Amino acid sequence: MINLPLVTMSQEKAKVESLNCVSEGHLKLYDPNASNIKEFVTLLIQRMDRHLASSMVGCVHCGMCAESCHYVLARPNDPTMTPVYKADQIRKIFKRHVDWIGRIIPWWVQARTPANDGDLNRLKNIVFGTCSACKRCTLNCPMGVDIAALIRFTRGILTELGIVPEGVFNVSRDQWETGNQMAVSEEDYLDTLDWMREEVQDELGIANLEIPIDKEECDFMYTINPREIKFDPRSIANALKIFRIAGESWTLPKWGWDQTNFGLFSGDDKLGAYVAKNIYEAARRLRAKRIVISECGHGYRSTRWEGYNWAEYDQEIPTESVILTLMRYIQEERIKVDPSRNPEPVTFHDSCNIARSGDIIEEPRWILKQVCSDFREMHPNRIENFCCTGGSGLLSMAEYKPLRMEVAKIKAEQLQATRAKIVCTMCHNCVDGITDVIQHYKLGMKVVQVMDLVANAMVID
Ligand code: SF4
Ligand code: SF4
Repeated sequence: MINLPLVTMSQEKAKVESLNCVSEGHLKLYDPNASNIKEFVTLLIQRMDRHLASSMVGCVHCGMCAESCHYVLARPNDPTMTPVYKADQIRKIFKRHVDWIGRIIPWWVQARTPANDGDLNRLKNIVFGTCSACKRCTLNCPMGVDIAALIRFTRGILTELGIVPEGVFNVSRDQWETGNQMAVSEEDYLDTLDWMREEVQDELGIANLEIPIDKEECDFMYTINPREIKFDPRSIANALKIFRIAGESWTLPKWGWDQTNFGLFSGDDKLGAYVAKNIYEAARRLRAKRIVISECGHGYRSTRWEGYNWAEYDQEIPTESVILTLMRYIQEERIKVDPSRNPEPVTFHDSCNIARSGDIIEEPRWILKQVCSDFREMHPNRIENFCCTGGSGLLSMAEYKPLRMEVAKIKAEQLQATRAKIVCTMCHNCVDGITDVIQHYKLGMKVVQVMDLVANAMVID
């Protein structure tokens, strides 16, 4: 059975209230006097659409999705880990209030309404704590049931009610208030960029290297993950170096640079719209010909595929992952690479949000074969790859880490079987997720990104 630390509503409220910095109208605090059940049901009915309704009614309980889920594979005797169990928790409420049989004879179809806030809290622990929204079950359902969409839908309603893990609340608040999910100030952003500019200038031995900010009419506007500013500025330096050698015309915006989007994880479409629109409007303001997204799985999915719909925005500027940009540079010989500079065995982890949900699959492999001398696949791979375990914002939810590490055993075995020394991924979130797996299971591997290997293999005249 589920064995999760249940954070009580009062504990959660106390934590949230102690922060005392909520943007009114965007994030709602948990209110013990509110009729949460009534509001939950109202939102469920209001937000129901055809895609969700078909996933609510389409499940035949065949159980085929179970083997897709790393939670089930790691805990085979625990039925509460199955995708269908997780989806049934919201499906029961749907049946009770929307489905006509459930409204007339609820006991016949196991239709139920949550009885109290404790039930909503348990639902929160299921949809936030036992699923990384990796969509592997969705891909393998013969009936086309989108379980991950039901999970996100439920998360969105709970978020609206303020019934969320503390980490989700904090990150969402930061993104609403500062425009980026790590609350990086404009000063820190510009300082870090300048620091990297100096580093690359010294490394290349050239004078007056520019890092273009808010430059108009460039070939592309580059967007990044705040993690690159706060924890991994080397990836900005690599980008700067590669773009310079390729002779690229590019810019970073002063505002609208954060491509990550916690709205995808929390199910909050309003936050999703706000963040995506910041980027689209920055590109329009700067008259950029294209938007290029750095290596970030959910940032890519949000900006490239989902943001237009959340924001109802007429986004006409082409958007691509930097993986495609790098591939073009190598193909057009705008940069030269030498695979012998990356001699150690490298395996590749497909990020769920870029491969399974984003359809960028062969391009990173093509690049890795140009820049590494020993590339080897992990199995399963491509759209069947297992999640890094940290998807859907789980890295920000410390209370679920013990379970996440337990089920990470599947990922650890998959990584270990490759006998590679280096795991390459094209997502900052996956870097942190896989790093946790490697440390927990003592795998002795190193995690890098595609751009790291390209920069290392680059031959500079
Ligand atoms: S979600 Fe799909 S695969 Fe899973 S039990 Fe239902 S019908 Fe079967
Ligand atoms: S989305 Fe992924 S983690 Fe969630 S139930 Fe499906 S397979 Fe499991």
